[in-house]
Amino acid sequence: MIDDPREQSPDDASPQLVWAEDGSPRSGRFGDVYFSKDDGLAETRAVFLDGCGLPDAWAERTDFTVAELGFGTGLNIVALLDLWRRARPQNSRLHVFSIEGFPLTRDEAARALSAWPELAETAAALLAVWPEGTPGFHRLDLPQWNARIDLAVGDVQWALEQWSGAADAWFLDGFSPALNPGMWSPEIMALIAARSAPGARVATFTVAGAVRRGLAEHGFIVEKKPGHGRKRERLEAHLPSPPPVARPQRHVAVVGAGIAGASVARALIVGGARVTVIEAERPGAGGSGFPAALVTPRLDAGDALIAGFHAQALERARHLYRALPDAVIAEGVLQLEQAPRDATRFDKIAAQDLWPAAAMTRLDAAACADRLGEAVQSGGLMMGGAMALRPSAVLEPWLSGAERLTATVATLRPEGEGWALLNAEGAALVTADAVVLTAGWGAAALAPELPLAPVAGQADWVEGPTATPVAWGGYAVPTGTGLLFGATHDRGQTDATPTAEASARNRATLSAALPDLAARAEAAGAGRTRKAVRATTPDRLPVAGPLSQPNLYALTGLGSRGFCVAPLLGEHLAARCLNQPSPLPEAAERRLSPRRFTDDASQAG
Ligand code: SAM
Repeated sequence: MIDDPREQSPDDASPQLVWAEDGSPRSGRFGDVYFSKDDGLAETRAVFLDGCGLPDAWAERTDFTVAELGFGTGLNIVALLDLWRRARPQNSRLHVFSIEGFPLTRDEAARALSAWPELAETAAALLAVWPEGTPGFHRLDLPQWNARIDLAVGDVQWALEQWSGAADAWFLDGFSPALNPGMWSPEIMALIAARSAPGARVATFTVAGAVRRGLAEHGFIVEKKPGHGRKRERLEAHLPSPPPVARPQRHVAVVGAGIAGASVARALIVGGARVTVIEAERPGAGGSGFPAALVTPRLDAGDALIAGFHAQALERARHLYRALPDAVIAEGVLQLEQAPRDATRFDKIAAQDLWPAAAMTRLDAAACADRLGEAVQSGGLMMGGAMALRPSAVLEPWLSGAERLTATVATLRPEGEGWALLNAEGAALVTADAVVLTAGWGAAALAPELPLAPVAGQADWVEGPTATPVAWGGYAVPTGTGLLFGATHDRGQTDATPTAEASARNRATLSAALPDLAARAEAAGAGRTRKAVRATTPDRLPVAGPLSQPNLYALTGLGSRGFCVAPLLGEHLAARCLNQPSPLPEAAERRLSPRRFTDDASQAG
């Protein structure tokens, strides 16, 4: 299994486009066209949409998944979305998974797609969410049509191995087998079969013998059909098993209303579930309840999988937060070097291909001082994609579609295939088909199998002064009306009562790094303080996934990275609960699974 998208891709992932006189793009790399010059759109509709029996194939479905090999200009997907817009069943969702090893830029795609004025509106919607071409999985939302696209940027074999979804329809569009055999190899055919839902249909423009045999060997019934335009023939294939029947709506209970619970609730609601959120106090009563929070990735210069996971999580969090009114306080977080080794570490991180161009920038001490408005001795890393966030502006809207209960869940009792959630007196608060534990440190009592440990953190804030978001071990963040700074990090502590001693430590931490800012905070007079207990894990990575009992899941152990990782992991959890495609590559899923603590095999990834 290939865990890292870069293992099989050449260093230069440019598509090497050559534009023909008629305006259509051609791949210099593969020597083939992206679509037929005569009438690419009609051919796309005939070969792929008709070839997969669309729209009839999705008529009775609440969820329908299309997978494509070769995203290219996005034409096939735009044509698919255009059909979905016009002919989708009510209240149903379209999931698209597409793979591209040599991504086009947005401008290149816009130029190619401009050939079809009738698709202009749909194309514009896709171009508006066109991702950076960084390696890994990217989720693109089209909420206006209840559709989402997971685009895997990387080699086709890596992407298929890492995708844990099951496609109802396949568009095989990887240039001609003669020019690009890697897209049609026996390994790829085996993966297509393994990632197919019952009754899956396959469509392609080629009738090459190897493709027909490859599909037939894996149980597909393969038929040649009359081709479109000048092409004589095309291929349709299907699995003889009956397609899945629509499942009734699931009711999922989410225990805890911090950023983990809100992220899971949001994603479950988007996925069509009925959601009840149970919270002992109020949203953000734990670690998510400060007036501002930093959204920063864990910087890892060595572990490509963990670095890639955080890059994906940050991209997803940023996209979702930007869509919320008043949520983003400031974009860009400056991370200062703390130790001499940080200089080389930050150099390596800035050079990683995981980040959008110029997102991670090295600054020398003078440039840092310029940003901060006071002298500092060390350089830093400007994290362009990171941000300062107003947690309340995220929690409320994301929880708003859920039913809400204020109660403490003391135990869980299996009930039918689901669970009853009981209070301390043994009374059932709610019953549900599935439960997700998102209560931070509070999840420990409900899931003793998890090796969680508490860490208490106290932060202080004052009204008036502000600063560019900055972290160095301590941190200082604008709240919109003032400045939040901290934080203490007291392992093993479960008492959330703030202390004057911890506030003094926070002021000392600020003053040691940024004395001018500390003086301004001091001059602002008495501030406020708050302490919360977070959950951490032995490997300092989040826990996200199913626990050992059926229909029981956890998202916890987020430490101080909750606002960065929870939105993506919430979507992963929702996908697992609702049997929909997860946005997370399998290697990351294994690294973050609760089973990593008990199951040795899962640690290998
Ligand atoms: N469906 C596309 C559209 O609507 O524009 C056209 C796809 S084009 C015919 C084939 C695509 O497969 C190209 O974008 C190419 O970069 C991609 N590709 C070729 N070999 C690949 C590989 N080994 N892994 C991933 N993508 C690959």
